[in-house]
Amino acid sequence: MTSINSLCVYCGSSVGAKSDYVAGSEALAQAMATRGMSLVYGGAHVGIMGAVANRLMSLDGQVYGVIPESLVKLEVAHEGLSELFVVADMHERKAKMADLSDGFVALPGGLGTFEELFEMLTWAQLGFHTKPVGLLNVAGFYDELLRFLDTACEQGFMKQAHRDILIADTDPDTLLDRMNVYEAQYKSKLPD
Ligand code: AMP
Repeated sequence: MTSINSLCVYCGSSVGAKSDYVAGSEALAQAMATRGMSLVYGGAHVGIMGAVANRLMSLDGQVYGVIPESLVKLEVAHEGLSELFVVADMHERKAKMADLSDGFVALPGGLGTFEELFEMLTWAQLGFHTKPVGLLNVAGFYDELLRFLDTACEQGFMKQAHRDILIADTDPDTLLDRMNVYEAQYKSKLPD
């Protein structure tokens, strides 16, 4: 059993231009299934979101969706999940997804994915949570973002310790292993 039991995955409502993005995302679902991790995500059956949910369900994993009422039709809510939470708005969605999860991973996506990832990073920077935040850099999609974060450090806008909160990897198994180590190291520092 792993210390991260429930993983929140932020990802695109589109599939992207290369088949690698769906393939890489399905590989994350496979790695999660091997570890018995459940998935918390945005509850749609479109794009990378649907690909991850469908793959984990096909492997008998538990999948929890959280979707605002207004997006149920727009993003086409997934009807076959373990549970679908319909919430009032985007703020409630993000709060519920964070509450249900022991850690967060971003896959390729667009503005919605970026916003969710950066919110979890800023909350960690401020000490509002201590859960691991990972980035699966599928097919180099996030190379430039990672470089830009380094630039923000070099230019004095971000501390290296905060840059180090983000655990980025190209391999899903290695990423989940590193996130579990982060979790265990944090827990070992807590007073008994
Ligand atoms: P995208 O990466 O833009 O395809 O969006 C991925 C997911 O993020 C979709 O389910 C969007 O509805 C969701 N999303 C977009 N903006 C927000 C937001 N402000 N808060 C929470 N979820 C969002």
